[in-house]
Amino acid sequence: MNIHEHQGKDLLRRYGVAVPDGQACFTVEEAVAAATRLGFPCVVKAQIHAGGRGKAGGVKLVKDAAAARAAAEGLLGKPLVTHQTGPEGRIVRRILVEQGCRIARELYLGLVVDRASGRIAVMASTEGGVEIEEVAAHAPEKILRESIDPALGLAAYQARRLAFGLGLAKEQVGPAVGFTTALARCFVESDCALAEINPLVVLDSQKLLALDAKIGFDDNALFRHPELRELRDPAEEDPRETEAAKHELSYIALDGNIGCLVNGAGLAMATMDIVKAAGGMPANFLDVGGGADAKKVAAAFRILLSDAAVRAIFVNIFGGILRCDVLAEGVVQAAREVGLGVPLVVRMEGTNVERGKQILADSGLDIIAAADMLDGARKAVAAAARA
Ligand code: ADP
Ligand code: MG
Repeated sequence: MNIHEHQGKDLLRRYGVAVPDGQACFTVEEAVAAATRLGFPCVVKAQIHAGGRGKAGGVKLVKDAAAARAAAEGLLGKPLVTHQTGPEGRIVRRILVEQGCRIARELYLGLVVDRASGRIAVMASTEGGVEIEEVAAHAPEKILRESIDPALGLAAYQARRLAFGLGLAKEQVGPAVGFTTALARCFVESDCALAEINPLVVLDSQKLLALDAKIGFDDNALFRHPELRELRDPAEEDPRETEAAKHELSYIALDGNIGCLVNGAGLAMATMDIVKAAGGMPANFLDVGGGADAKKVAAAFRILLSDAAVRAIFVNIFGGILRCDVLAEGVVQAAREVGLGVPLVVRMEGTNVERGKQILADSGLDIIAAADMLDGARKAVAAAARA
């Protein structure tokens, strides 16, 4: 689960990480009042769960109340398109009004769970404000790394090594160690998956400050943090993932164009692999689960059909607890309701497979039958390419 910048900064503040004074606002009037209270110059920042706001006009430096009003009016209720949002952008529903800072240097500091080492990795770079993926691609030597020993936590010498590596002045090393240590403590205690401060700035006054905060949590640990769970913003989440959660379906949206409807997480993973092996890209991971009924299958099918990126649907079911006839009924029901706008490839095996095939055949739906998984994947990829 990801949270907004202003929520991330509130969390950081509680751990003693220095952040600018600011206020989240939902209306223009609130924003003008906040700007007047904070004083000028201040910054009006669009709050969406996507980066690249600065370059897209989502961060505005304002010098007086009239400019603050104009900036708030220009952002609130309107879509902001950044290179991370996709062409449709995201509607800005809240803004952060924050003190304007006089920036001497922009640095990068990020913590992430590194699955390869099973530890938290700390990354720092002098290339602040630039996306770290870009730095990693073009100048990997500019990324400093430390790995946190889970038994010891971030050691002071590691934080010092990062501070020196960033070229900080001698008198900034102490504060930098304090900053990094507080951020690491926040990361561990809040069960974060990602905490990225980009930029971490050195002010004209030589103070260090987190100017941006991108924080995400491990969903599987959220039960330990009811107060963090409250920060969820459904408006920022994929509506299909929200809908899937309502029906207790395991659904994760991906970048491809082949919608996959599968039962069992293992088979779902294998299906994604085989679609890739056949030269395609899955549009999603979807496990309808063992105990699915026709209603749940129909809900899953509707979710796939609602995705404009989907060019073909590949149903790959092994009928065990979920019988093939039940699955077929769900598919037919949803296709009748929503209309089947894309080619549908079905591979079914297992309990009641003959009855399932009969239901599909009798439905009059235009279905491409597959002999096995690989055949199904190939047919889905070919159908998507034609569509
Ligand atoms: P994003 O990463 O989405 O572009 P940031 O919060 O990193 O958004 O802001 C983009 C840039 O805007 C920063 O790199 C910084 O130069 C400037 N900026 C952001 N907040 C402030 C602030 N409070 N005072 C002065 N400049 C700011
Ligand atoms: Mg940023």
